[in-house]
Amino acid sequence: MIASLALAAALVRADVLISAGHEGRPASCARFPRRRCNLGAAGERAWTPLVADEATRVLRAHGVRVVREPADFHGRFAVDAAVFIHFDGSTRPCSSGASIGYHDAAYRGAADAWRALYGAYAPFRFMPDDFTVGLRDYYAYRQIRARDASLVLEFGELTCPAQHAWLASHLRFEGDLLAFYLSRLIGKGDVPLPAKIDKHAPSSHARGRFARRARTR
Ligand SMILES: [Zn+2]
Repeated sequence: MIASLALAAALVRADVLISAGHEGRPASCARFPRRRCNLGAAGERAWTPLVADEATRVLRAHGVRVVREPADFHGRFAVDAAVFIHFDGSTRPCSSGASIGYHDAAYRGAADAWRALYGAYAPFRFMPDDFTVGLRDYYAYRQIRARDASLVLEFGELTCPAQHAWLASHLRFEGDLLAFYLSRLIGKGDVPLPAKIDKHAPSSHARGRFARRARTR
Protein backbone atom coordinates (compact mmCIF):
# COMPACT_ATOMS: atom_id res chain seq x y z
CA MET A 1 0.00 0.00 0.00
CA ILE A 2 2.68 2.46 1.00
CA ALA A 3 4.82 1.38 -1.94
CA SER A 4 2.01 1.91 -4.44
CA LEU A 5 1.24 5.33 -3.00
CA ALA A 6 4.88 6.27 -3.35
CA LEU A 7 4.87 5.14 -6.97
CA ALA A 8 1.72 7.09 -7.74
CA ALA A 9 3.23 10.18 -6.17
CA ALA A 10 6.37 9.78 -8.28
CA LEU A 11 4.50 9.59 -11.58
CA VAL A 12 4.81 12.99 -13.23
CA ARG A 13 2.08 13.87 -15.72
CA ALA A 14 2.57 16.08 -18.75
CA ASP A 15 1.52 16.26 -22.39
CA VAL A 16 4.94 15.62 -23.85
CA LEU A 17 8.41 14.64 -22.68
CA ILE A 18 11.38 15.69 -24.79
CA SER A 19 14.84 14.37 -24.00
CA ALA A 20 18.03 15.54 -25.70
CA GLY A 21 20.24 12.53 -26.34
CA HIS A 22 23.63 12.56 -24.55
CA GLU A 23 22.95 16.00 -23.10
CA GLY A 24 24.54 16.41 -19.66
CA ARG A 25 27.04 13.61 -20.16
CA PRO A 26 29.57 12.68 -19.07
CA ALA A 27 28.75 14.54 -15.85
CA SER A 28 25.46 12.67 -15.34
CA CYS A 29 26.96 9.23 -15.92
CA ALA A 30 28.17 8.96 -12.33
CA ARG A 31 24.55 9.08 -11.14
CA PHE A 32 23.62 6.18 -13.45
CA PRO A 33 26.54 3.75 -13.17
CA ARG A 34 24.64 0.88 -14.80
CA ARG A 35 24.17 2.77 -18.04
CA ARG A 36 26.74 2.85 -20.77
CA CYS A 37 28.10 6.38 -20.80
CA ASN A 38 27.55 6.81 -24.52
CA LEU A 39 28.64 10.31 -25.54
CA GLY A 40 27.23 10.06 -29.05
CA ALA A 41 28.59 10.91 -32.46
CA ALA A 42 30.98 13.84 -32.81
CA GLY A 43 28.91 16.99 -32.47
CA GLU A 44 25.76 15.18 -31.41
CA ARG A 45 25.77 16.42 -27.82
CA ALA A 46 25.84 20.01 -29.03
CA TRP A 47 22.95 19.59 -31.43
CA THR A 48 20.35 17.49 -29.62
CA PRO A 49 19.64 20.28 -27.05
CA LEU A 50 19.15 22.81 -29.85
CA VAL A 51 16.43 20.70 -31.49
CA ALA A 52 14.90 19.80 -28.11
CA ASP A 53 14.84 23.42 -26.93
CA GLU A 54 13.26 24.70 -30.14
CA ALA A 55 10.53 22.04 -30.12
CA THR A 56 9.89 22.74 -26.44
CA ARG A 57 9.70 26.50 -27.01
CA VAL A 58 7.16 26.17 -29.82
CA LEU A 59 5.00 23.63 -28.02
CA ARG A 60 4.90 25.66 -24.81
CA ALA A 61 3.99 28.77 -26.81
CA HIS A 62 0.95 26.79 -28.01
CA GLY A 63 -0.13 25.66 -24.57
CA VAL A 64 1.37 22.17 -24.56
CA ARG A 65 2.83 21.05 -21.24
CA VAL A 66 6.37 19.84 -21.94
CA VAL A 67 8.81 18.10 -19.65
CA ARG A 68 12.26 18.85 -21.06
CA GLU A 69 14.96 16.42 -19.93
CA PRO A 70 18.64 15.78 -20.72
CA ALA A 71 19.97 12.28 -21.48
CA ASP A 72 19.85 10.99 -17.92
CA PHE A 73 17.00 11.81 -15.59
CA HIS A 74 15.19 10.34 -12.62
CA GLY A 75 11.50 9.68 -12.23
CA ARG A 76 8.62 8.14 -14.10
CA PHE A 77 6.34 10.02 -16.46
CA ALA A 78 2.82 9.58 -17.78
CA VAL A 79 2.59 11.52 -21.02
CA ASP A 80 0.77 11.51 -24.33
CA ALA A 81 4.07 11.31 -26.20
CA ALA A 82 7.78 11.09 -25.44
CA VAL A 83 10.66 11.61 -27.87
CA PHE A 84 14.37 11.04 -27.39
CA ILE A 85 16.36 13.11 -29.86
CA HIS A 86 19.53 11.76 -31.44
CA PHE A 87 21.77 11.97 -34.48
CA ASP A 88 23.45 8.84 -35.81
CA GLY A 89 27.12 8.12 -36.45
CA SER A 90 28.65 5.33 -38.49
CA THR A 91 32.12 3.85 -38.91
CA ARG A 92 31.25 3.65 -42.62
CA PRO A 93 30.27 7.22 -43.49
CA CYS A 94 26.98 7.60 -45.36
CA SER A 95 25.88 4.02 -44.71
CA SER A 96 23.11 5.21 -42.39
CA GLY A 97 20.48 7.93 -42.28
CA ALA A 98 17.51 8.89 -40.17
CA SER A 99 15.77 6.23 -38.09
CA ILE A 100 13.08 5.60 -35.50
CA GLY A 101 13.07 3.37 -32.44
CA TYR A 102 10.26 2.07 -30.26
CA HIS A 103 9.69 -0.89 -28.00
CA ASP A 104 5.93 -1.19 -28.30
CA ALA A 105 4.34 -2.10 -31.65
CA ALA A 106 1.42 0.15 -30.71
CA TYR A 107 3.65 3.11 -31.61
CA ARG A 108 4.28 1.96 -35.19
CA GLY A 109 1.61 4.25 -36.59
CA ALA A 110 3.22 7.23 -34.87
CA ALA A 111 6.58 6.16 -36.32
CA ASP A 112 5.05 5.90 -39.80
CA ALA A 113 3.66 9.41 -39.44
CA TRP A 114 7.07 10.86 -38.47
CA ARG A 115 8.76 9.06 -41.36
CA ALA A 116 6.21 10.41 -43.83
CA LEU A 117 6.57 13.94 -42.49
CA TYR A 118 10.34 14.23 -41.93
CA GLY A 119 11.09 12.02 -44.93
CA ALA A 120 9.32 14.56 -47.13
CA TYR A 121 12.00 17.13 -46.21
CA ALA A 122 15.21 15.28 -45.35
CA PRO A 123 17.26 14.53 -48.50
CA PHE A 124 18.47 11.17 -47.22
CA ARG A 125 16.98 7.81 -46.41
CA PHE A 126 15.43 6.28 -43.36
CA MET A 127 16.90 3.08 -41.97
CA PRO A 128 14.42 0.35 -40.92
CA ASP A 129 12.71 0.98 -37.59
CA ASP A 130 14.53 -0.54 -34.62
CA PHE A 131 17.54 -1.49 -36.72
CA THR A 132 19.76 -1.34 -33.61
CA VAL A 133 19.26 -2.67 -30.10
CA GLY A 134 19.66 0.88 -28.83
CA LEU A 135 16.59 1.91 -30.79
CA ARG A 136 14.44 -1.02 -29.74
CA ASP A 137 15.50 -1.17 -26.10
CA TYR A 138 16.41 2.41 -25.32
CA TYR A 139 17.23 2.75 -21.63
CA ALA A 140 14.70 5.51 -20.90
CA TYR A 141 11.61 3.77 -22.34
CA ARG A 142 11.02 2.12 -18.97
CA GLN A 143 10.56 5.51 -17.30
CA ILE A 144 7.73 6.45 -19.63
CA ARG A 145 4.08 5.52 -19.81
CA ALA A 146 2.96 7.00 -23.13
CA ARG A 147 -0.52 7.07 -24.64
CA ASP A 148 0.43 7.83 -28.26
CA ALA A 149 4.15 7.29 -28.71
CA SER A 150 7.51 6.79 -27.04
CA LEU A 151 10.10 7.12 -29.79
CA VAL A 152 13.81 7.52 -30.29
CA LEU A 153 14.20 9.84 -33.27
CA GLU A 154 17.55 9.83 -35.06
CA PHE A 155 17.52 12.89 -37.33
CA GLY A 156 20.35 11.82 -39.62
CA GLU A 157 23.95 10.60 -39.82
CA LEU A 158 26.50 13.15 -38.63
CA THR A 159 29.44 11.18 -40.03
CA CYS A 160 28.07 11.65 -43.56
CA PRO A 161 29.26 15.06 -44.84
CA ALA A 162 26.21 15.67 -47.03
CA GLN A 163 23.78 14.79 -44.24
CA HIS A 164 25.82 16.79 -41.73
CA ALA A 165 25.63 19.86 -43.96
CA TRP A 166 21.87 19.62 -44.42
CA LEU A 167 21.25 18.95 -40.74
CA ALA A 168 23.49 21.86 -39.68
CA SER A 169 21.43 24.29 -41.73
CA HIS A 170 18.08 22.91 -40.54
CA LEU A 171 18.46 22.53 -36.77
CA ARG A 172 15.79 25.10 -35.95
CA PHE A 173 13.53 23.68 -38.63
CA GLU A 174 13.94 20.19 -37.15
CA GLY A 175 12.71 21.51 -33.81
CA ASP A 176 9.80 23.32 -35.43
CA LEU A 177 8.81 20.25 -37.45
CA LEU A 178 9.01 18.08 -34.36
CA ALA A 179 6.74 20.51 -32.50
CA PHE A 180 4.21 20.36 -35.35
CA TYR A 181 4.37 16.55 -35.39
CA LEU A 182 3.90 16.20 -31.64
CA SER A 183 1.07 18.70 -31.57
CA ARG A 184 -0.81 16.80 -34.29
CA LEU A 185 0.00 13.44 -32.72
CA ILE A 186 -1.44 14.29 -29.32
CA GLY A 187 -4.20 16.52 -30.68
CA LYS A 188 -3.22 19.57 -28.65
CA GLY A 189 -1.70 22.99 -29.35
CA ASP A 190 -2.45 23.26 -33.07
CA VAL A 191 1.18 24.12 -33.93
CA PRO A 192 1.40 25.18 -37.60
CA LEU A 193 3.57 23.42 -40.15
CA PRO A 194 6.87 25.35 -40.35
CA ALA A 195 7.25 27.70 -43.30
CA LYS A 196 8.51 26.21 -46.51
CA ILE A 197 12.30 26.16 -46.27
CA ASP A 198 13.75 24.89 -49.52
CA LYS A 199 13.17 22.57 -52.44
CA HIS A 200 12.65 19.68 -50.07
CA ALA A 201 9.36 21.06 -48.84
CA PRO A 202 6.80 18.30 -48.50
CA SER A 203 4.25 17.54 -51.13
CA SER A 204 0.61 17.99 -50.31
CA HIS A 205 0.48 14.21 -50.63
CA ALA A 206 2.83 13.74 -47.68
CA ARG A 207 0.92 16.28 -45.61
CA GLY A 208 -2.36 14.54 -46.46
CA ARG A 209 -1.03 11.17 -45.43
CA PHE A 210 0.09 12.61 -42.12
CA ALA A 211 -3.23 14.29 -41.49
CA ARG A 212 -5.12 11.06 -42.21
CA ARG A 213 -2.92 9.08 -39.84
CA ALA A 214 -3.38 11.67 -37.14
CA ARG A 215 -7.16 11.61 -37.55
CA THR A 216 -7.51 7.84 -37.57
CA ARG A 217 -5.48 7.45 -34.41
ZN1 LIG B 1 22.88 9.34 -29.94
